[in-house]
Amino acid sequence: MKIKEHWQIVIALAAAALLGLLLGMDSLRDTAVVSGFVGISEFLGDIFLRLLKMVIVPLIVSAVVSGIASLGGVEGFGRMGLKTLLYYMFTSFVAICVGLMVVNVFRPGEVGGEPSPLVREMIDRKADEMAASPDEKIAGAKERAEAGARGLVEILRDLVPPNIIKAASDGQMLGLIFFSIVFGAALTRMPGESGDVMRHFFQALNDLMVAITRGIMMFAPIGVFFLILPVIVDVGIGFLGALWKYFLVVLLALGLHLFVVMPILLMAFARVDPRRHYSAMKEALLTAFSTSSSSATLPVTMRCVRDNAGVSKKVTSFVLPLGATVNMDGTALYECVVVIFLAQVMGYDMTLTEQFAVVLLALWTSIGVAGVPQASLVAILIILNAAKIPGLNPDAAMAVVLTVDRLLDMSRTAVNIFSDSCGAVVIAKSEGEKGVLANP
Ligand code: ASP
Repeated sequence: MKIKEHWQIVIALAAAALLGLLLGMDSLRDTAVVSGFVGISEFLGDIFLRLLKMVIVPLIVSAVVSGIASLGGVEGFGRMGLKTLLYYMFTSFVAICVGLMVVNVFRPGEVGGEPSPLVREMIDRKADEMAASPDEKIAGAKERAEAGARGLVEILRDLVPPNIIKAASDGQMLGLIFFSIVFGAALTRMPGESGDVMRHFFQALNDLMVAITRGIMMFAPIGVFFLILPVIVDVGIGFLGALWKYFLVVLLALGLHLFVVMPILLMAFARVDPRRHYSAMKEALLTAFSTSSSSATLPVTMRCVRDNAGVSKKVTSFVLPLGATVNMDGTALYECVVVIFLAQVMGYDMTLTEQFAVVLLALWTSIGVAGVPQASLVAILIILNAAKIPGLNPDAAMAVVLTVDRLLDMSRTAVNIFSDSCGAVVIAKSEGEKGVLANP
C-alpha cells in the first residue's frame, strides 16, 4: 500500500521530532557523533530548501507570461490587482485584531496580574550579556531596522526593476511579476510564427517547472526530516522556561486565525467548503511549516492551488507570488502579540491609541517583510523602536523572544501561505471561475 504524500511528510516530521529529542538530551547533544550527524542533517535540509528555491524564478516568469499570453491580454489585471491587494490588507488587519484580542485577554506578560519578573530578569540579563559581547543576529537586524521600513514610494519603485537579472537574483518578486506582465502583454501582440514559438516556449517552460516541483516534492519527506531534526536537537525539551505562556498565546492566536477566521472568510467571500481547501493545501501547509519560508514554499503553494483547488493559471500565477511577498497574516499577528507582550512584561499599559499605532505598524511592516525564516525580526525592532516602551531594551528583548522563535516561525509561515491560497480562491471565485474546489 502506498502512503499518501502528506502522510509521508507528517511521519517524517514526527520521526525527526522524536530522534531530535533523543539526540538533544544533555548527555548526547555535544558528543562528536551527534554534532557530526546534526551537521550532515543541516547540509541535507539546506539542499532541499535550495531545490525549492531553484525553481522560483523560472516558475513565476513562465507562469505569468504564459498565463497572460494564453488569455490574449492583460484586460482585467488592474481590477484583479486592486481586488487582491484590498483583500490581503483586509485579512492581515483581521489577523492583527485576533492577535490583539488574544494577547489582551490572556496577558502572557503577566503572572497573577503583575508583570512577569522572570521574563524581565531574562531581558535584563540578556542586555548585560549583549553589552559585553553584541549578538550578531540582532546587530544585523538593528541595522536594517534603523534604515527604516520600506516606504510606499520604495515599494512602488521596486515594481520597476532596472535590471531584471539582479531583481531575480535578489528575490525581488514584485519586479519580476511586473516584468513578466509587460512581457506577456507584448507577446499577445506578436503575430505570426515567432509569436507562436515564444508562446509555446513559455507554456512548455511552465509545464516543465511544475513537473520539476512535483519531482522535488518526492524528496519532501527526506528533506523535511533533515530540516527539522537539527531544530529539535537545538531547542530540546524545556526550552520554553518562563516564556511558555507567551508561546502558547501566539500559537492560540495563530490557530484561531487559521482554523476559525480563514474558514469563515472562505465561506463568506467564496462560498466554498473550507475542509476541501485544507485538504487541497495539505502539502503546502506542511512544507511551509517545515521550511519557515513562504518564498521557498511558493512553488508548492502554486501547484496545490492550481492542481488541487482548481484555480485558473491566470489567478494562481498572479495572486500567489504577490501574496508570498506582501501578504503575511501570521507575521502581522505575531508582530502585534510580541510588542504588546513586551509592554505587559514592563508593566506598561499601552493606551488604545498606542495599540492602534502598533496595529498600523504591524500591518505596514508585514507587507515589507520577506518570506524567509525569521524575517519579522527586523519588523518587530522597527515597531519596538517606534513604540518606545519605557525601560525596555528592544535589542535584548528581541534576543530573549528569539530563543523560542523557531517553532513559532514555522507556524506563522504556514498561516501566511494558507492566507495567500485563500486569497487565490476568493479572487478566482470573484472572477467567476466555476471549477474552484468544485466536486471532483
Ligand atoms: N518566516 C516567515 C515567512 O516566510 C516570515 C516571518 O514571519 O519571519 O513567511
